[in-house]
Amino acid sequence: MSRARPARHLLDLTSEERRAALVELGLPAFRADQISRQWLIRLSDDPQTWTDLPADVRERVSAVLLPRILEPVKQVSCDDGTTVKTAWRLSDGAVVESVLMRYPDRVTMCVSSQAGCGMACPFCATGQQGLTRNLTTAEIVEQVLAGARALQRGEIPGGNSGGGADRVSNVVFMGMGEPLANYERVVDAIHRLVDPAPAGLGMSARGITVSTVGLVPKMVELAGLGLPVTLALSLHAPDDELRDTLVPINQRWPVNEVLSALWAYAERTHRRVSIEYALIRDVNDQAWRAELLADLIAGQLVHVNLIPLNPTPGSQWTASRKEDERTFVRTLMARGVAVTVRDTRGRQIDGACGQLAITTL
Ligand code: SAH
Repeated sequence: MSRARPARHLLDLTSEERRAALVELGLPAFRADQISRQWLIRLSDDPQTWTDLPADVRERVSAVLLPRILEPVKQVSCDDGTTVKTAWRLSDGAVVESVLMRYPDRVTMCVSSQAGCGMACPFCATGQQGLTRNLTTAEIVEQVLAGARALQRGEIPGGNSGGGADRVSNVVFMGMGEPLANYERVVDAIHRLVDPAPAGLGMSARGITVSTVGLVPKMVELAGLGLPVTLALSLHAPDDELRDTLVPINQRWPVNEVLSALWAYAERTHRRVSIEYALIRDVNDQAWRAELLADLIAGQLVHVNLIPLNPTPGSQWTASRKEDERTFVRTLMARGVAVTVRDTRGRQIDGACGQLAITTL
């Protein structure tokens, strides 16, 4: 099957490139900033309403630089409408999902960075699909903007009026795909999110989390950028023997190497890093593994996020028993490790961690 290359979009371009693109169209460069403000700040995706721009500019720009790149194909919600999962069809037919979660004081968008994933973690629904392709910068940023527009339109209940929950405050690269395997586009997308207007949305980099299986060279590169985004490592096991099977890329970059890269990231950015650990019954949830984990990480600037496993269809694994989960938590706490158990928002709609797969079509 031949697949068209995704069309170029305004959001694929830096500020400079947007100006150059307008000049290419025979339009004045300064229009680029007006258009960017409409799209990114006013969140207006209908060029007809851009009254600060002449009609011919609106038409030419929307025809050339604003192709529709995400088409919603299905939307489901739960948690009284405060969690919304959307499946998006991309211009070449690939489908990805994003999840919006509105809390009293914040709104988190969980976005996909790839269609499918090539990392093959056996407990993850996306991992079982294999990789279709990398998303473009615009396809990533548009997922965030779609959530921002839904909030602006008043479609999402919840939030305290006047609180921090009126706009998207957090973006987590925990949807489909391995963000560091699509490094350039993910970094560009982060720039679009954090750069001040009109180049970007002006979000705080501190509200952005990149989650990785542990692609060490890219972790090092990300640390060098000096962007204070949070880095989360999907560890899932403290020993190579088990991690080799749960996170197969461990065979390339083992536990000691990924942890060194993680500590280097914390040191370089002065940001607390996260470790994600899906608790899988009788697989990785033994007290001795909690002790071993503590041996490796105690004293570091790190926070452990335990995620009760969300079983995927046909999986032989399930979440830990509550008492084993409690022992795991207590063991880490006793060693002074900061630890929380992640909530299971979105579970009923297959929108919780690791459940994103196209069962919707
Ligand atoms: N590729 C990135 C993002 C994946 S999704 C990464 O691996 O970090 C974010 C988190 O959800 C990862 O820690 C991932 O391992 C975890 N996860 C995947 N499947 C899961 C499942 N079925 N139950 C619980 N957590 C899961």
